[in-house]
Amino acid sequence: MINRKTYKIYDRAMYQHHGIGLAAIQVGYQLRMFVMDCTRSQESPQVFINPVIVKNSEETLTDFEGCLSAPGKRGEVKRHLRIVLKYQDKEGEEHTKTFYNLEARCIQHEMDHLEGKLCIDYEKGEYSRDKHKSQTMVESDFRTKSDT
Ligand SMILES: [Zn+2]
Repeated sequence: MINRKTYKIYDRAMYQHHGIGLAAIQVGYQLRMFVMDCTRSQESPQVFINPVIVKNSEETLTDFEGCLSAPGKRGEVKRHLRIVLKYQDKEGEEHTKTFYNLEARCIQHEMDHLEGKLCIDYEKGEYSRDKHKSQTMVESDFRTKSDT
């Protein structure tokens, strides 16, 4: 069973690496679970257990992502801008919630981990038409970068 202490381990690991998300499997646990905190305060990590994406927006955005499981590398990945996620929180309560933009990207990235897929596994070649596209570093040095 997962207890409060275990969650703390995930939170700490995520923050230590300046990530905004971390899947349990990345720290050696074969659980369908991940933590996420897209705020800067590092005070409100959300826990997602048995997450299932029930709806995807048609609009997508291609952007770069970094990953704690592939240090120093980046993958260019097309993600849905908006998703509806069904999951349980750490109290075991079920939620269905809509997430946008960075949170939606982070969730799709973490969901990939649950399937054993990494952002660097995506094939190159699907480039966004936007020349001035931003870089979203999921799980990597996103936070330190935006803080400087
Ligand atoms: Zn990752």
